[in-house]
Amino acid sequence: MVVGDAAQLVNGIHREGSNHAILSGKVAAETAIEAHEKGDFSGRTLHRYRERLEKETPTMNDLRKYRNAVTFMERHPWVLTLYPQLAADSIAEMMNVDEESKRSKQWKILREVIRRGSIPRMIWDGIDGGRSFI
Ligand SMILES: Cc1cc2nc3c(=O)[nH]c(=O)nc-3n(C[C@H](O)[C@H](O)[C@H](O)COP(=O)(O)OP(=O)(O)OC[C@H]3O[C@@H](n4cnc5c(N)ncnc54)[C@H](O)[C@@H]3O)c2cc1C
Repeated sequence: MVVGDAAQLVNGIHREGSNHAILSGKVAAETAIEAHEKGDFSGRTLHRYRERLEKETPTMNDLRKYRNAVTFMERHPWVLTLYPQLAADSIAEMMNVDEESKRSKQWKILREVIRRGSIPRMIWDGIDGGRSFI
């Protein structure tokens, strides 16, 4: 039975692994106790570990939920560069106190977002990202 990080039970999106290490360790220990009591350490008895991990912990469901997230990030690297930059520039524009009205700033931001970001691509990224994360 392999548990925790050694079994890659790590959810990088939520930056958590200690919970999965604890839970998988617990169900592995319970399975080992059960096997000891039965005097049967065969694959069939130890398979209960995998079943417990599926049914009694959120681990496998959580990891399955984000199975496409890393691929999404690899295919859409600008999500971690262009979009945060656009958001930061937009906030800076809105917060900057000068002689320009806020409405004018809003249009300026929209033009800049369209110029640098491409609206169709952003919509598609939103749909594709939603599928990978929700
Ligand atoms: C920088 C960082 C931040 C993190 N932040 C979070 C967080 O905020 N929340 C969260 O849930 N998770 C977080 N994690 C992940 C979390 O730390 C791990 O998922 C968790 O500690 C895994 O537990 P583990 O028992 O499987 O492995 P480990 O904690 O790595 O324990 C394995 C142990 O085995 C020992 N060992 C290795 N080889 C041998 C050997 N041959 N003989 C004897 N002993 C050996 C090691 O020294 C170690 O003590 C973070 C990880 C890192 C690196």
